[in-house]
Amino acid sequence: MQETDPLIFKYADIMEEGSLNVRLEPAVAGYADLFDRPGMLKKLSLELDFSAGVDSILLTGRVSAELEMVCSRCAEPLTRSFDDSFDEVYPDTVEYIDTREVIRETTGLLAPIKVLCSESCKGRCLVCGINRNKQVCACKAEKPGAFGAFEGLKLETRKKPGKE
Ligand SMILES: [Zn+2]
Ligand SMILES: [Zn+2]
Repeated sequence: MQETDPLIFKYADIMEEGSLNVRLEPAVAGYADLFDRPGMLKKLSLELDFSAGVDSILLTGRVSAELEMVCSRCAEPLTRSFDDSFDEVYPDTVEYIDTREVIRETTGLLAPIKVLCSESCKGRCLVCGINRNKQVCACKAEKPGAFGAFEGLKLETRKKPGKE
């Protein structure tokens, strides 16, 4: 067991002290594999608060990650922080408390599937592709709805692709 890992703690030490509060900013390289893109994780912050009970130690942890993502509507890059907390109880049968796994698990679940640069993001023009938060295009006017051009189409009259 690598006692020197900053995420591994000696059980007896915490028991003796009664509590331990740790604040860490580990190197992001060790966590980059948890994300879709290697460069997505910009910063990781950990808060580990241990408190000793009679025959167990409770860990309340908090993981915050600064992630570089792209807006799901307009595809502009954005950096935002996400965090989550967890609780773990360690029985007094262990010699070391290894927090690496729970931290990796929690970190890996931080990235949301979708993110918006703003709730009111207008997205991109479906015709010319410009970012509608920044520019106004000419095609906008002739677009009552994205599928306006198809409104007259009667689907039921379509011929089935069949044999002759
Ligand atoms: Zn956007
Ligand atoms: Zn346009």
